[in-house]
Amino acid sequence: MSSAFAAFSLDGRRALITGAGRGIGFAISQTLAAAGAEVTLCARSKSELDEAAAQIRAAGGKAEVLVADVTDVEAFADALSALPAFDVFVNNAGTNRPKPLQEVTPDDYDAVMGLNLRAAIFAAKAVAKGMLAAEKSGSIINISSQMGHVGAANRTLYCASKWAIEGFTKALAVELGPKGIRVNTICPTFIETPMTKPFFEDPAFKAQVLGKIKLGRLGQVEEVANAALYLASDASSLMTGSAMLLDGGWTAD
Ligand code: NAD
Repeated sequence: MSSAFAAFSLDGRRALITGAGRGIGFAISQTLAAAGAEVTLCARSKSELDEAAAQIRAAGGKAEVLVADVTDVEAFADALSALPAFDVFVNNAGTNRPKPLQEVTPDDYDAVMGLNLRAAIFAAKAVAKGMLAAEKSGSIINISSQMGHVGAANRTLYCASKWAIEGFTKALAVELGPKGIRVNTICPTFIETPMTKPFFEDPAFKAQVLGKIKLGRLGQVEEVANAALYLASDASSLMTGSAMLLDGGWTAD
């Protein structure tokens, strides 16, 4: 790697990515591994993870799998305590149940807030515990959304969860900055993934979304992965408590 790009190298770094079996998490895992990181892919489905890790190894990367449900916060913390500390954590597992508030149930609340907020907070706690014990500097990247900065119809729960993760990120950055651990969010607009595929089967919804994205197209997972590489690496060494908006201009007006 030429010196101009040395700050982007992740050689010798250990990175944990949740929700790594597909979508944005898998793309981030591929990019961090290509930059030299030893990646640990976490999700619930072993077969999905084994296939994802095999693809990374076939491309010359180093990949391990951790089969875990991040909503089982005690089991996740126990699993991490048995592993060496990580340098990079991508808190990516997330979900959405779009519907008008009048149709939102307590079960929807528990599913969305339980994964996007509760699990994300306790996953960050478990990873940071290892970083602190090993006295490592580190980078925690919370995958938020443009919906952590604006509102949208049918997204009361999702927006609540992502606005909360923005606040969590700032508070944790204040707490961990003195220890050399940086904490930031990535806030993508609509990205083509298995999670959003069903939404775009509705042509009216697709037209509405494309009308808000000034670049006139949906985002691709690789574009989120490139931002994650920046935040994971020393290239972003002065950045903490910040939100990186990858919204194609959604929030510009
Ligand atoms: P996805 O549904 O395609 O993938 C989610 C991944 O999380 C899967 O690998 C799944 O197995 C894993 N996962 C789900 N529940 C889990 C659990 N309990 N424990 C461990 N792993 C679990 O989703 P995606 O579209 O790639 O979204 C990833 C993140 O990006 C989410 O936080 C989402 O809110 C955010 N995001 C997505 C978009 C988008 O348009 N796709 C836009 C903005 C933000």
